[in-house]
Amino acid sequence: MSARAIPLTLEAGIPDHKPTFSEAQALAEANRCLYCHDAPCVVACPTGIDIPGFIRKIATDNLKGSARTILSANLLGYSCARVCPVEVLCAGACVHQHQGTPTIAIGRLQRYAVEKAFERGDAAQLLRRKPLNEKKIACVGAGPASLACAGYLALEGFAVTVYEGRALAGGLNTTGVAPYKMHVDGALREVDLVKDLGVTVKTGVTVGKDITPQALLDNHDAVFLGVGLGADTRLGIDGEDGAGVVGATAWIERLKTEPGFALDGVKAAVVVGGGNTAIDAARELAHLGIRDVALAYRRTEDVMSGYAHELAHGREEGVRLVENAVPQSFVRDGAKLTGVALADGRVLPADLVLVAIGQAKAPESVPAFPGVQRDAKGGLVADAATGRTGNPKVFAGGDVLGGELVVTAVQDGKRAARAICAALGVAVDPDAPMMAGHV
Ligand code: SF4
Repeated sequence: MSARAIPLTLEAGIPDHKPTFSEAQALAEANRCLYCHDAPCVVACPTGIDIPGFIRKIATDNLKGSARTILSANLLGYSCARVCPVEVLCAGACVHQHQGTPTIAIGRLQRYAVEKAFERGDAAQLLRRKPLNEKKIACVGAGPASLACAGYLALEGFAVTVYEGRALAGGLNTTGVAPYKMHVDGALREVDLVKDLGVTVKTGVTVGKDITPQALLDNHDAVFLGVGLGADTRLGIDGEDGAGVVGATAWIERLKTEPGFALDGVKAAVVVGGGNTAIDAARELAHLGIRDVALAYRRTEDVMSGYAHELAHGREEGVRLVENAVPQSFVRDGAKLTGVALADGRVLPADLVLVAIGQAKAPESVPAFPGVQRDAKGGLVADAATGRTGNPKVFAGGDVLGGELVVTAVQDGKRAARAICAALGVAVDPDAPMMAGHV
């Protein structure tokens, strides 16, 4: 895997908040694991990684085996190690918490093992790949669900092509992850791993515009739709189209991927919302040196959907929470934004407002495949166990089905890969990578 030149973007100024373990740190942490039978951490992992198994391999200096264990159950185990909310998943279930000792840093150990494989350049070689069969698969969108589905199918011998409308693959791992968790180069390393498994990734190709759904159906044995979410939801109040008011995910994408994008003259910012995207955006603004960052939430802290531990970090970094804050209008001096007026009469100073109250359930451009239906909220309808849609050749997974974590998207992709094999009559060995972890 070759080193990649990444153009300098604003995220470069935001450091990694959990740097890679040194060898000594990894060994010390791995040796604290109790290697539990029926380990609760494994149950809590949506992909079912054999966590005590990979940690024991770190402790016994079998780093290749450790990475193989992780990547079998979760091909995107690198990004999951960096972005998963481990506090409420694997580490949150660790038995150490019942003994009054710190829980095992599972995410950091997982990152260590996979990063070593990336550094050696042998990550793709750790997994057994079958010879090519005669079947072709198209994956639409290059986010975690599609990359996982594509990678697992490539290992089983399928010829897989991923179609991505953006210039960069990786989906939200590339365009949306908070920089203190992972920069763009980390996400692209993982895209390279999937390519090294034999997957063709075509970026700058939008299905529905550059290639028709029918052409994909005609030329492939199955199609996987991992198209993610749509545009940022708007507040729907006057002045929202004016300068200084931006959708949060659109802003984060520019921060991460647009060379030269800058925060000219911003001294005060307001992020509207109470979810994890809102907290991430507020923390990013604080990291970038904005002195006054307010998180404006319409209700009270106890009912916020964002993680309490992320909000706690945000507060340490200078983010202030404003409860019962319902934006009513924008305050301007001429065209220049100066604040947000709330329904109760308070005014929050702001040169920049990020709106983080959700996204459309599927991109407006989601290609219309015959037989694929949308639900009442705009997401796609599919069988929960397999991801199969109303069109027997079309499967779906990830955010477009309502999942909200990278790790659940990976599991969706893995399940769909298994279902595609079953639908196309391709036998899968019990010890194949796609059979590892939770069914
Ligand atoms: Fe190790 Fe904790 Fe998992 Fe037990 S629950 S295997 S101690 S990480």
